[in-house]
Amino acid sequence: MRPYIDIHTHLGTTINRDPVCGQSATKILARASQSGVVAAVPSAAPGGPQARGVLDTRDQNALVAKACRDFPDRFPIGLGVVEVRHLDPGVHELARSMDDDGLVGFMIHPGISGHAMRGELHPFLEAVESRRGLVMLHVGDRYIAASEALARRFSGVNFVMLHVGSNEVGHGHAVEAFAPLDNVWVDIAQHPAPDELSWGIAAIVRDFPADRVMFGSDAPYYDYRVIQSAIERAPISDEAKDCVAWRNAADLIRKYAPGWNPPTGCPATPAEWSDVSLWETLPGQPLRLR
Ligand SMILES: [Zn+2]
Repeated sequence: MRPYIDIHTHLGTTINRDPVCGQSATKILARASQSGVVAAVPSAAPGGPQARGVLDTRDQNALVAKACRDFPDRFPIGLGVVEVRHLDPGVHELARSMDDDGLVGFMIHPGISGHAMRGELHPFLEAVESRRGLVMLHVGDRYIAASEALARRFSGVNFVMLHVGSNEVGHGHAVEAFAPLDNVWVDIAQHPAPDELSWGIAAIVRDFPADRVMFGSDAPYYDYRVIQSAIERAPISDEAKDCVAWRNAADLIRKYAPGWNPPTGCPATPAEWSDVSLWETLPGQPLRLR
């Protein structure tokens, strides 16, 4: 298989799922070692502990920063998480995580964090724009118009719109909204119908700029190897497959880590995971990782 760079993986624990699920840095590397992934961009897991509010968010962001320090070749950049209900202290934590810990921006999940992807995010985006950073939005098919408005308003921020085109109508809307924007990339994580000619991988590669479509795993929630297989068999050129699998992500990462190049080959399996099955799924849900 060709090399893969995973633009969208979550580090830490999501506690508002049953059962609780999460990944450590070494678990991401262990999965990478078995799936052709040579590098990844971790973001703090949404739905993490919040008993201490923004202090918990700081701990989650610190985990990502530590992973990037410990494995700079595998995790060349990382993103924190924000909770809009933290208001100003949340904006300060975001700024701190970028200024002191070297994170390049944030990831947000409106469904888990309970917000609308609109003006409540402006102070957070302001902080990222002044630092010329990167933001990942879980867009799906519900938040296309709101996300487009954010990307147009904050043109100095680069955005990755996650889970783009998760149904046929959403594909058309997402193309209209995002394809013209210079500061927008998209990922195909958890695409439910990757072989569909009108809105699957081939259509996404055809309808978005060729250098803007990227593979994302959305681990620890999803057995992303099914999307890798779909990319490998998609009716697109080998060159287009390379762009989706790793080249576009490498170019985007290098905007923030100019000296970085993708490592050759997967990481070794960290010893703590060497005899653990990493792909067990939930009963009755064959793609949902435990
Ligand atoms: Zn995700």
